[in-house]
Amino acid sequence: MKACYLSILIPSYNESYNIPLIYQALKEQLAKMDHEILFIDDGSEDDTFKQIHQLAAAHEEVKYVSFTRNFGKEAALLAGLRHARGDAVIIMDADLQHPTYLVSELLEGYQEGYDQVVAKRDRNGDSKVRSLLTKIYYKIIDQVVDVKLKDGEGDFRLLSRKAVEAVLELSEGNRFSKGLFSWIGFEQKTVYYSNKVRDNGDSKWSYKKLINYGIEGIVSFNQKPLRVCLYGGLIIMCLALLYILVMLVQIIRTGVDVPGYFSIISSVLFLGGVQLVSLGIIGEYVGRIYAETKRRPHYLIRETNMDRDL
Ligand code: UDP
Ligand code: MG
Repeated sequence: MKACYLSILIPSYNESYNIPLIYQALKEQLAKMDHEILFIDDGSEDDTFKQIHQLAAAHEEVKYVSFTRNFGKEAALLAGLRHARGDAVIIMDADLQHPTYLVSELLEGYQEGYDQVVAKRDRNGDSKVRSLLTKIYYKIIDQVVDVKLKDGEGDFRLLSRKAVEAVLELSEGNRFSKGLFSWIGFEQKTVYYSNKVRDNGDSKWSYKKLINYGIEGIVSFNQKPLRVCLYGGLIIMCLALLYILVMLVQIIRTGVDVPGYFSIISSVLFLGGVQLVSLGIIGEYVGRIYAETKRRPHYLIRETNMDRDL
């Protein structure tokens, strides 16, 4: 068996109730392992930081990084990966939706030599609408995105040191971890678990956030939507030319046609729509370029008990 120092990385935002619970649950799993438990307090407004601080005071393997405000889960993950010192890092949510008993299965995969061991969940307990939307989304994304994103495979996974370093090489400001994990490749093993409904606290995902996350997933990985605009525009242009030719021939043969209100208004509306959508898509990319050029840090640290910072 490979000797392994394990980091458990837990992004936490307003999870005060769950922090002691997940700590307990992890302790039972990790009794025999050399490990650190790294909580990233993502600017929580409740007692989350107090809870983490108390744990850290009592147990030296508990580490924390606390942000100055809420920077989002992606930023928390990045901070966690930068600070984690493990030979392997397991990322899991604070809300106990990621079962701690999987830790040993994930580690088994690592011992077998895999650099990424992914925990895949079913959609048990998700609302019908959300499951349906997710299904459609993954159908679309499978067509347009170059990296493979799979339904049910989220951030709950183990990364080897090599894989962590690879993710950290990717320096983009707009981070879509799911895509980054897929982009880096490496031999991957999947373990399965059944989804559990959240016991305490609320999910931080509103539909609005989910939709934004979905758009992020599509545009952060390729320029295909731009190409769709290009081809769409070309096709519409050809059809319009064809229509003009047909109308010309008709006018020459039968005299001037009665001006068609319907055809004018429908083409104006349709083309207006196409142009706006295309502009919007271009705007998404331009906005990202703008954000990247500012080179702002992904997060700011208020307090930490770790010395390693990059
Ligand atoms: N989280 C975070 N920052 C945020 C939102 C969420 O660090 O701005 C953490 C949260 O505390 C939890 C994990 O990310 O540990 C997943 O969040 P949530 O349970 O709300 O998402 P879901 O399970 O519904 O996908
Ligand atoms: Mg959750």
